[in-house]
Amino acid sequence: MTIDFRKQEEWFSFRDTQGNGIERKTEIRFDPLTGESSRLIFDPGLNIQPPDYTEAAMQTGGKKCPFCTENILKLTPLFNSEIADQGKIFQGNAIVFPNLFPYSKHNGVVIFSEQHYVRLEDFTVEMIKDAFFAAQTYIQRVAATDSSAKYASINWNYLPLSGGSILHPHIQVMVSDSPTNYQRITLVKTLAFERDTGREYFATLCKTEKKQEERWIGETGDIAWLHAFAPKSHNDFLAVFTKAYSIDEVTEQDWLHFSKGLLSIFATLSEQGFASFNLMVHISPYPQMKQPIHVRLVPRLTLGYLNTSDTNFFQSLHQEPLSFKLPEEISAMARKHF
Ligand SMILES: [Zn+2]
Repeated sequence: MTIDFRKQEEWFSFRDTQGNGIERKTEIRFDPLTGESSRLIFDPGLNIQPPDYTEAAMQTGGKKCPFCTENILKLTPLFNSEIADQGKIFQGNAIVFPNLFPYSKHNGVVIFSEQHYVRLEDFTVEMIKDAFFAAQTYIQRVAATDSSAKYASINWNYLPLSGGSILHPHIQVMVSDSPTNYQRITLVKTLAFERDTGREYFATLCKTEKKQEERWIGETGDIAWLHAFAPKSHNDFLAVFTKAYSIDEVTEQDWLHFSKGLLSIFATLSEQGFASFNLMVHISPYPQMKQPIHVRLVPRLTLGYLNTSDTNFFQSLHQEPLSFKLPEEISAMARKHF
C-alpha cells in the first residue's frame, strides 16, 4: 500500500475510589502525508451547545457593521485599478474588496450575504458558490499582475469561536510570496511522495479511501469528500477537486458541487452541536505538478459551563491536534447527509 495509515495505542491504568481498575486509551495517529501526529483521546461525553448570536447580531448589525448593505460600498476600501476598475469585484451576490488589516501581500475579503447573521442551516448553495467563484476571480486577477505571489488560499473563519471578528459572513483570500507552514509542508511532502511512489498524493489518497470505505464520505460532481485519518481537530473534513489542478481549472459547476457538499458537512456539524468552523482551500503553487485543489474544514467550539477554549497547550505549543471523536464514526455520520 502506498498510503500508510499508521497508528499506535497507549493505555493508562489506574483505579477509581472503590479500587476498581480503569483502563483509558490514547490513540496516536500519524498523518499519511506529513507524518505529523494527532491524538484521539477519551471522550468524556461533553454536551456541546451551539452558541446563539441573535442578541449580538442586533447589537452589531446594520449601521454598526461595515459589511451590511448600507455601509459596504461607503466604508470598505478599494483595490488598485489593475485588480478592479471600479475598485471592487462584483460577482453574483458577492463583493470582493481589500482587507484593511492584511495578512499578506494580497488579501481580499468576500462578502456574500446581505444578511448580517446567517445561521449554519440558513446558508444556500447559491450564496457559497458566488463567494468562492468571486474569490477565484480575485486570485486570477492577482496572478495576472503579480507573478511572484504564488501562494494562494481561500479561507473562512465562521463565527467568533473560529477567530472571526465580525459576525457578518465573510471569507478571506490570501495571495502571498511566502507559503504558510501548511502550504510549505504540503509542497515538500507531496514532492517526496511523488518521487518515492511515482504517484500524486491526493489522487492516491482518494482512490485508497474510496476502496477502504472507512473514511470515505461521498462525491458531489468532481469533488470527493472524506475525513482525515489523523484529524486536526474533533472533525477534519477533506474535499478534493479531483479534476482541478490550478485555480483556472475550477469551473462554476465545481463550485456549485462544492457548495452542495459543504451544506451536507454543515448538517453533520449541526448534528453534533457544532456551529463554528475554520475552512481552508489549498491551491498548489505549481499547476504542472497536477495536484488537485483540496479543502479542509475543522469545527471550532468551547467546552462546558466555563466556555473553555478548544485550543490548549497541545495545539498551541506542542502542535499536536486532539480529537474526542473517531474519524470513522464521523465519516459514517456525514455519509447520511450526502
Ligand atoms: Zn453586517
